[in-house]
Amino acid sequence: MKSVKAIVLLMFFLLVLSSLGTAIVNAADEGQDQGEAFISASTLNVRSGPGTDYSKLGEVHVGESYHIVDEHTDSSKEYSEWVKISLPENFDYSEGWVSADYVNSYAPLQGISIALDPGHGGPWDPGAVGPTGLTEKEVALDVSLRLENLLEDLGAEVYMTRETDIDVPLWSRVNTATWTGADMFISIHANGSYNRGSQGTETYYSNFFGYQDYYLAASLQNSLVNHLGRMDRGVLNGNHLYILNRSTMPSALVELAFMTNYDEEYLLSTDYFRQSAAQGLTEGIVSYVYNYHY
Ligand SMILES: [Zn+2]
Repeated sequence: MKSVKAIVLLMFFLLVLSSLGTAIVNAADEGQDQGEAFISASTLNVRSGPGTDYSKLGEVHVGESYHIVDEHTDSSKEYSEWVKISLPENFDYSEGWVSADYVNSYAPLQGISIALDPGHGGPWDPGAVGPTGLTEKEVALDVSLRLENLLEDLGAEVYMTRETDIDVPLWSRVNTATWTGADMFISIHANGSYNRGSQGTETYYSNFFGYQDYYLAASLQNSLVNHLGRMDRGVLNGNHLYILNRSTMPSALVELAFMTNYDEEYLLSTDYFRQSAAQGLTEGIVSYVYNYHY
């Protein structure tokens, strides 16, 4: 009987030992987790090895984040620090190297709060209406919801003035931004004109916050024009716009494209154009925060 007890005890010890061993192996695996790489360059080359002399595998973009799997330093080279990242499925390779000079270890919009205002809404205020009946209120809301998702992925706190097709008075929209203490206030619109030929992208600012309002608007406009590829109508003074002249933080109002233009109404109806608008606005916001938000 004694030997049976001894065997049971021995098995118990082996069981404890093996589970301890598993725990140690797991801890070692987690030790290889080297965190996230948040891309800070608008376009960054991914290479097959840690140096600019290695072949290019593809590109990653500002605001995107990737898991770091390895790091490499070679102080004899111009770009000495490199990180190896795991790549998404649309790449032919599962891993690649990027220069650490254009990578941050924290989310670029961590600690930043943004009030987003999808223009118009509700049964009485559709905004501009396109030749086939697409409404500005619908486009503004959909782009804003896409933008909200992208901004939250980058660590931002987002406050929406509306999240459904409801009527919200202008003063209430401004109050959302004021009462939440948002760092910036961005109103999303699509343009309208009696002239069907009018087209392109424009952004309004008010100059009550000095250069910050202007730079916010300019960052959004530049990035939108890059992403949407429509005519650049520029950054315009919007001191007459209630949303801008009543806001208590840097604010901008974007007109993505013209609802009333045949080509642009079609573009504004597509998922691709709406997602490009949200991506463009995201990169514009990140660029503004990096360069002008203190
Ligand atoms: Zn509008």
